[in-house]
Amino acid sequence: MSSNGQGPITEPADGRWSSINGIFRKGILLATSNRLVSSGVKRFGMRLGAGNFVAGEDLDACIQVLKALTDRGFHTNTTLLGEHVTDEQMASDVASEYIRILDRIDQDECRTNIALKLTHLGLDLGEEVAYRNVERIVTHAETLGNFIRIDMEESDRVDPTIRIFKRLRAEGLENVGTVFQSYLYRTDDDIKNLLDLAPNLNLRIVKGAYLEPASVAYPEKVDVDRKMIEQIETLLDNDCYVGIATHDDRIIDHFKEYTEQHGIGRDRFEFQMLYGIRTQYQQELLDEGYKVRIATPFGPEWYPYLMRRLAERPANLLFLAKNVVRR
Ligand SMILES: Cc1cc2nc3c(=O)[nH]c(=O)nc-3n(C[C@H](O)[C@H](O)[C@H](O)COP(=O)(O)OP(=O)(O)OC[C@H]3O[C@@H](n4cnc5c(N)ncnc54)[C@H](O)[C@@H]3O)c2cc1C
Repeated sequence: MSSNGQGPITEPADGRWSSINGIFRKGILLATSNRLVSSGVKRFGMRLGAGNFVAGEDLDACIQVLKALTDRGFHTNTTLLGEHVTDEQMASDVASEYIRILDRIDQDECRTNIALKLTHLGLDLGEEVAYRNVERIVTHAETLGNFIRIDMEESDRVDPTIRIFKRLRAEGLENVGTVFQSYLYRTDDDIKNLLDLAPNLNLRIVKGAYLEPASVAYPEKVDVDRKMIEQIETLLDNDCYVGIATHDDRIIDHFKEYTEQHGIGRDRFEFQMLYGIRTQYQQELLDEGYKVRIATPFGPEWYPYLMRRLAERPANLLFLAKNVVRR
């Protein structure tokens, strides 16, 4: 197994951690909407260590990080953090900001593309609003030879996200991809329904980060892991380009072997990880000659993003708690 790069906590190999983590994950995701938790974390979070997961609160700070990662040989994507915007002007301003970010990436020659959320661009105000905004961004990115990834959010956003993605593709915009979450029962079918876009289909596969009921998502991690492997294999077997977005070394090891055995070139996939998570492992994969993209978000609206990262790993909460004690 590769080194974790996340501190001294080791996890027993039996199922205990899986169920403890499951309860913990639910608790954190539920607490995210609690006003007391939210105001406390927002007030102190950045000083207590949120900066380990977020590349600063403004674009200048983020660009420094993106440049340094580019110099080291990594690919990156960046995100202006924010979601669930309910004001049309604000959603349009977010699109304008993304256009400024794309220009800056180009000017500073960072090897960076964009990952964005449709609820940040007004999806909650209507599909048309989000479409108009994202279309502006994808069109601008096309002129710069850049690529836009549409993140996947809560399960009730999957249908509009797929419709918007397909509409962009139908408009002839090919520099756009989206994401599928292996924890959703529907994902096998969603992937199959897009395969006719292959080989020009660039998808990121993730396990899934939101709190979803058992009516729509596998409650057991073992099923999610199995599905993730099956879905990535399906995409690779069908000539798609895949962002294998996980920090799970068992899954990464599987695809190192799978691609080797099936003669799938390293230009057909990339490993993607989050900024600040398993940094040593990111470097190891890069040194082995794999393409590694680091999702490097920034912005003042980091609270829900941080809470999802805390929910993924109890040790992250301990890490923040230790900073409180140290102060
Ligand atoms: C590039 C990228 C983009 C993503 N985009 C989306 C998206 O659009 N929609 C969505 O729903 N989800 C997204 N996610 C989140 C994803 O769904 C998972 O919640 C997250 O990646 C954790 O799962 P894992 O695959 O790393 O595996 P896990 O089984 O959760 O973790 C495997 C190992 O990785 C390490 N690890 C995992 N998470 C953390 C963490 N937070 N801190 C420290 N160590 C950790 C631990 O060592 C753990 O044992 C994205 C993830 C990545 C890497």
